[in-house]
Order: sequence, then C-alpha cells, then structure tokens
Amino acid sequence: MLPLLSLTILLVGIRAVQAQNPLEREGLQKKPLPQETQETSHPNWKKIHLQQRFSHFLLPPGFIPYPDQRNQNPKRYHGRVGGKQLTIDWYRPSRGFSTISRSLLRLHYNNHFQEIHSIPKFGFLAAKVKRVDQETGSKYLSLHIWIDRQVWTLSVRLPGNPHPAVIDAAHSILSSLQMLPKGSGTRAGNIEEALRLREMQLGFPPPQDHKVETYISPHYHIYSDAPKSGTLSLQQTLEKDLIPCLLEEFGPLLTKGTRFSPLVVFLHRNRGAFVLDALDRGIARPWAEKVDGFAWGPHYSTWFDSPKAPVHFHEGTHQFVQGSLGLDGGGAWFQEGLADWIEMRQRKVPIRRLARNLLRSKKTPSLRELIETTSLQELKENEETPLSTEEAYLLSASLIAFIHERFRQDLFLAFTRDVGILPGGTPLLIDQACNRNLGITLKELEMKWRKWCGVK
Ligand SMILES: [Zn+2]
Repeated sequence: MLPLLSLTILLVGIRAVQAQNPLEREGLQKKPLPQETQETSHPNWKKIHLQQRFSHFLLPPGFIPYPDQRNQNPKRYHGRVGGKQLTIDWYRPSRGFSTISRSLLRLHYNNHFQEIHSIPKFGFLAAKVKRVDQETGSKYLSLHIWIDRQVWTLSVRLPGNPHPAVIDAAHSILSSLQMLPKGSGTRAGNIEEALRLREMQLGFPPPQDHKVETYISPHYHIYSDAPKSGTLSLQQTLEKDLIPCLLEEFGPLLTKGTRFSPLVVFLHRNRGAFVLDALDRGIARPWAEKVDGFAWGPHYSTWFDSPKAPVHFHEGTHQFVQGSLGLDGGGAWFQEGLADWIEMRQRKVPIRRLARNLLRSKKTPSLRELIETTSLQELKENEETPLSTEEAYLLSASLIAFIHERFRQDLFLAFTRDVGILPGGTPLLIDQACNRNLGITLKELEMKWRKWCGVK
C-alpha cells in the first residue's frame, strides 16, 4: 500500500503480524487516527481568496489564473514548480445535495483511484484522493470537503513522473486550504420560512389536497398531512429512540464545522398517498408497493402506519448516515449493513445466530463479491451462490455487527468514515481501508467474520 504523504500528515497502514490483531477489543494498543492538516508555512506563496465562505488557499510564486474566468467552474490556475507545470482547479459545488462518494463516483468510470482516505479538515468531513485519468494519463491529487451537504474540491494536476519536490508542493497547496465555518447566527425569520416552504413542497408539491402541518424538533422537520397524534408519536420515536442510538454509535463522526441541519421527513396520511409520492420520484411500481418508506439524502418519505415500525429505524439510519454524516458511499453492502444493523438491534434480532444459520445452510458469495455488487437484489441471480435480498441484508448487517463488536469504537468509526466516502464497488480501496483502520486485509476480515459467526 502506498499511502498519500503530505508534509504534515503521515498515514501508515498497520499490518497484522500476529494471529491476534492488537487493534481488536481484547488489546488496547493505541493507533493515532488521521489528524487534521495544518497550514504549511510558505512565506512567499500567494494567498488566493475565494469569495465563497471566506475561504483561501496558497499558491507558489508565479502562478496565475487562466484568463477570462468569468462564471467559470472550476476556477483554474497554473504555474511551474521545479520547471514542471501544475494546474490547480477549484470547484464550487453544483446545486443540490451531494456527498464526497457521489463526487468520486463521477470520476470512477474514467479514473483509476490509487488511494482515497478521509481526513477531518477544520471539523468538516474531507477526503484526500490520488487518481490517474485513464483517458489522458494525467495524475491528480485532490481534496474534497463536505460542507452544508455539498462538496467543494481543490485539485492539482501533476506533470508526468513528478519530482518529489513537485509532489510536496502539491500537498502543500492542498494542505493550505482554509474553509471557515459558517456563522452560527440565526437566519432572519422570513428566510427560515421560505426555506421551510421549499422543503415542504419537495414532499408535498402544490396543489396539496390536504393541509400539510410542520412539526419542528431538534433533529427533524416533519411535514405531515397525517393525524396530529400519529405524527407526534413518530416524532417521539425518531427523537427519543432513534437519534440517541445513532448519536451513541456515530456521534463523533458528525462534522463540527456547521450546526446540525435538521433531517426532513414527509409523512403521508395513507399508503396510497405514499405510493403515489414514490412513483412520482421514479421509484418502480413493484418496489413502491412493497416498501413503507424510502430515504434519499437528508429526506425520508413514509406513511402513517405504526410510529414504532422497523422501517423508521432502517430508513432513518440511511437518512442520518447520508444527510448528517455525508457517508453514503462504500456500496450497497455497507449502506444496507449499517441500516439493517440498527434496525435489527431495535427489533432485538439475534444477528449473529441468524448469520451463522445462513452461512451453514448454503454457500454464500465471497465478501469480495458482496462488496462488488451495486445492488443486493441482484445477488439472487448468482448461479452458484444465489442469495435472496433478505439474506444479503442479513450478511451485510452481521459484518457491521462483527466489526462493531470486535474493534474499538474509534477504529470502527474511522473505518466507517473511510469506507463511507468511497464510490462503491471497489474492493481494493476497501482493502486499503481495512488495513489502515483495522490492521487487517479484507481477506483476513472475511475469515475473522466467518469465525465470529461460527463457521469455517
Ligand atoms: Zn435500506
């Protein structure tokens, strides 16, 4: 494994050299988590101020912007270091919700990712990425930061066979980026009101047949045309049962750079109204008629059934992981594993025993195959190892339960953060994340997980 090196951070994967991994719960060997980068001192470098969010970064002497950059995205600069040309791109986010994994997915199809790892940058979630554009052969180092549910990117295109001094300069440019947190001042009442109206209309577009009420609580904005008592019960379930559980498990991953942005729930008065909403969002009819809720980014649409229904724990976890943590990557196994793990715990399902029964009763796909699939529904098509959707969810949840139970919480969280920013379907990058955070290879993880389940 070749870690990304910068002047100020050094991340070294730890390989297990003995049978008992020292990072597992039995041992207490401390491993430093990736730390924030500090601004490097380059007194003669020029500070480039960006109007957005009072951010700035540093460029070596002689770097100039490309001419005529009005309204351009990215904003581009170029210059030379050690006689070699470097090109710097600063991307503003496009409109709407996005995450680091989604911005990397755009690059996934024509780039080879050599390394992706997460770093906290000024309290925000950020990723450092090393990639090669397969069409042009150009190498890039980049920094992607998740702020206010959008992604900002600073990228450096390196010359061919870059000299170490050039690589150092590129790392220094990325490390110099400063993004200041948004002021914590409250917005004027009319802006807040306009935002809520826009939010409500996302789930209940006009003309609305029934009056839609707004329910505000610390972590949620619920828009509902269901009866008040039922809506309040759901609010209670989300705030009192789900959120404490999510904060206990994932709280340290919340970005500290911004205040908590409420999650948005659309509660429909009956199943028909919910199914129509799902169809309107392009969800296929068989699926829309089967499910009781679905989450996308910070949004969750459901209908009034039981306020304690397991679906709220499952979809509510998706919603929190995507919308509050910005970690919607890693692949279906990871996302469904996290959501099903929280849901099964709520239902008090013996995950480990069920996984053992499943693993003993049939030949299942390898962990690598599970990671490579982009849809857990498709595993039933596997010729030799068909797996129903429910079985695929169970396997995924048991893997998460295993990592959670077996490794210290800080390592579980660091692993979650590193996998959650990946574009998905990338076993090699997940292998790197295993090495970096759990001290074992993917293959070793699979063996230990199967053993934990009680199978060879
Ligand atoms: Zn799910």
